[in-house]
Amino acid sequence: MDKVRTRFAPSPTGFMHIGNLRTAIFSYLIAKHHGGDFLLRIEDTDQTRKVDGAVEFIENTCKLCGLTFDEGAGIGGEYGPYFQSERLDIYKKYALELVEKGKAYYCFCTEDRLEKLREIADKNKIPFMYDGKCKHLTKEEIEEKLKNGEKYVIRQAMPKYGASIYNDTVYGKIEVENRILEDQILIKSDGYPTYNFANVVDDHLMHITHVVRGNEYLMSTPKYNLLYESFGWEKPTYIHLPLVLGEDGQKLSKRNGDASFMDLYNDGFLPEAIVNYLALLGWAPSNNEEIFSLDELVKNFDAKRISKAPATYDIKKLKWINAHYIKQLSLDDLLKITLPHLKQAYHLEDKTDEWIRELIGLYQNHITYGKEIVEVTSNFFSDKIELDEECIEFMKDETIPQTLKVFKEEIQNITEWTTENISNAINNTKDKSGAKGKMLYMPIRIKTTGIMHGPELPNTIHLIGKEEIIKRLEK
Ligand code: GLU
Repeated sequence: MDKVRTRFAPSPTGFMHIGNLRTAIFSYLIAKHHGGDFLLRIEDTDQTRKVDGAVEFIENTCKLCGLTFDEGAGIGGEYGPYFQSERLDIYKKYALELVEKGKAYYCFCTEDRLEKLREIADKNKIPFMYDGKCKHLTKEEIEEKLKNGEKYVIRQAMPKYGASIYNDTVYGKIEVENRILEDQILIKSDGYPTYNFANVVDDHLMHITHVVRGNEYLMSTPKYNLLYESFGWEKPTYIHLPLVLGEDGQKLSKRNGDASFMDLYNDGFLPEAIVNYLALLGWAPSNNEEIFSLDELVKNFDAKRISKAPATYDIKKLKWINAHYIKQLSLDDLLKITLPHLKQAYHLEDKTDEWIRELIGLYQNHITYGKEIVEVTSNFFSDKIELDEECIEFMKDETIPQTLKVFKEEIQNITEWTTENISNAINNTKDKSGAKGKMLYMPIRIKTTGIMHGPELPNTIHLIGKEEIIKRLEK
């Protein structure tokens, strides 16, 4: 078998979103699982949609995620250039080869004429399809028009009978009747190729063995296969990936929760966790495991287990996986994803470094992403304590005032403010008031922090400070 080679072929039109990154990850895993190469090709032939800086975002995102390219844009390699905008001569040459072979033709139809055809199709409620007028031009007519500098495109000459069939790794047998295939444009009037042409030429010239991409290309792949056949090239293996839907069942978009990798990263999601989560978006291992490092994914990934059912982007699951990775962080790494958010939200000038480290460490097992540190620690930075319904209801128990009275005395008696002494104060409260378990801890926690559940109580009280705790107990 040839060495497996896959590519990630984004169009530089903005940030890298979930669906795109998922495609890159699957493409990487398929190459690496087979010990193959992974390439980056930038599909920048649509000059109107190009966004400055997008290539850097793509490169940075892949780098942070550990998706290392063996070859491609920004790296180099044997089969470059890897920016499509630098390959215009190549596409032109191959398009002319097809014209020569009678598999493509010059089309000089004006926008006006096409517009009229579209209107007629609209009126008859049939999908618009170019009628092939220019396919019948004679050699002389073509030469004449070219000499006059008439604008033209090059179109693929589709067979009008029979069917095109191929086998997709994920979707199985795909069959399309040739008569519904339009004589699609291969080279536009500005000299740029269409995606439909460039992807075939490049995948062939770059020796791509497995084409991994979104399923929006599933039904146009028969047209690409006809191009491969016209050239006499070997077709790649196709792996079309299922859609990613938002939780509302609609295609993932800004409105139903789509995020770019950078949004998530800036909010303190860890790249390892994002990669782990996205690998499970449409793929599942044979056992039920859910936590995978990139190396483990490479080892376990099996394209045959990609599901064709649409995958749902579930932020709760991403948070669950992210929380798992956060628990493994060193305190220094935990600070990196939390401290900037804390600094932005609160005044930390009067806090010592030690205090800040203790606070963040206390919440290591309680946050699901870095920025969440802000909301879970709000009661350390404000003395306004507001109770929700559940807390208010709970605090109505008639034994509570006595428990809190005892606790306040115990706190007041502490001379050295340590977590250990605070633990002792809680234990003494238990002995003296008779309250225990939930009826001991919850009233103290609610009264001092305003919430029912949280990290270790003595540590929390320690961080709030003696003076503030007494103030809260007296309120
Ligand atoms: N440039 C195409 C896109 O971003 C890539 C499709 C492909 O991988 O072939 O959708």
